[in-house]
Amino acid sequence: MIEVFGTRVRQARLLRRMTARLVVESTGWSTARQSQIEKAATVRLAAADVEVMAELFRFPAAFFTSEPQSRVTAAELLFRAPKSMTVGEKDFLATFASLAGDFLAELDARSKLPAVKIPTVSVEQLAHSSIAVAAARLRATMGVEPDEPLDDLTYEAERLGAPVIVRRRMPGEWSSEFAATGGRSRDERHLGYSAWVGRMRDRPLVVLRESDSWERTRFTVAHELGHLVLHSQVDCSVNSVHEQEANRFATELLAPAAVIAGELPRVVSLLNLQPIKARWGLSLGSLIMHLRDSGLIAPTKAKMLTSQLYSRINQSTGHTWGMTEPGWQDRAPERPRLLRKWVERCYGGASVQMLAARESMIYPADVLDWLLATQRPAPAAERKPVAASAGTARTASVPAAAPSRVVRLDDFRRRGRT
Ligand SMILES: [Zn+2]
Repeated sequence: MIEVFGTRVRQARLLRRMTARLVVESTGWSTARQSQIEKAATVRLAAADVEVMAELFRFPAAFFTSEPQSRVTAAELLFRAPKSMTVGEKDFLATFASLAGDFLAELDARSKLPAVKIPTVSVEQLAHSSIAVAAARLRATMGVEPDEPLDDLTYEAERLGAPVIVRRRMPGEWSSEFAATGGRSRDERHLGYSAWVGRMRDRPLVVLRESDSWERTRFTVAHELGHLVLHSQVDCSVNSVHEQEANRFATELLAPAAVIAGELPRVVSLLNLQPIKARWGLSLGSLIMHLRDSGLIAPTKAKMLTSQLYSRINQSTGHTWGMTEPGWQDRAPERPRLLRKWVERCYGGASVQMLAARESMIYPADVLDWLLATQRPAPAAERKPVAASAGTARTASVPAAAPSRVVRLDDFRRRGRT
């Protein structure tokens, strides 16, 4: 007999998007038995049963016998699910965060991750202050001057102890969100979520859906940082007001209104906003909302600019500027690197396949690939030779960052600017 954690059985099922009924049919367990196993803290199963589970869920048997650390529920995600999102999809996202949290805890035990320095605020603090002040505090924690544009926001987030995972697109996944990405409302474009993971819920985690748009990727990281700063101490689930607050925080973090006020031309147009977009690294769409919300332009003016944005056609893509703005190719989308770096540090630059083959590894190769595939590899000089095999075939499609935007990787724990 083997002692198995019920939570692990449930996590494996949710991650594979299987119904309880399918498990019952595949294992020959009764419905009551299946439910009893998932709810039990631990349960003793025959070795043959564990083998059946391992095969059905495509997880190593060691996964089921390892004690779960992070147990993030769907309600705990800093995320407002689109109405069309199913319970199964939400459970999947929560389970993914839990497994990523356990993976991080494992890395942290081997080599301390960067200390968490996200300055969270309480509801009371926010009531007596403003979102602009909260965003300014995060900038100050990053060691960035108010009038200084943020270079690589993902790197800054990870340096403050918030690992970022960019989930590769899978056919059929998050389909409700894909359908919504053409929408005009920023609310509909939910490209990411964040959560506090680990046994003590003391490690912030940001998960993003992979996007080719550097503007959306950067805005989403800023938005999730907004949730982590503003809403970590909120004890209800994220609502539409929180979403607006996270959006306000994001634009203020990227481009403090007090500073860009001095850079605005007398008569604002889509043309003369473009240098501001390029300098501060946020989309024209977000910039227009930001100027409106900060009272720097009138709502009618914002409306006019937005409708121009959605009527002009980008000749190289055939889409409106609202979809692909001028400057859409000016930068490569930001990609995280902390996880990859820590895997190299702890396991010596192993590929996903080599990592999955380790006896102690409790995750299957495809889950490791979800965690690591889009991570930016370390610069060649820093890499051990074996690391060159780490998912090269799959990362090859990610456009390389322009040399000027490459940030030194030497030490995430270092304070101050690169
Ligand atoms: Zn949000």
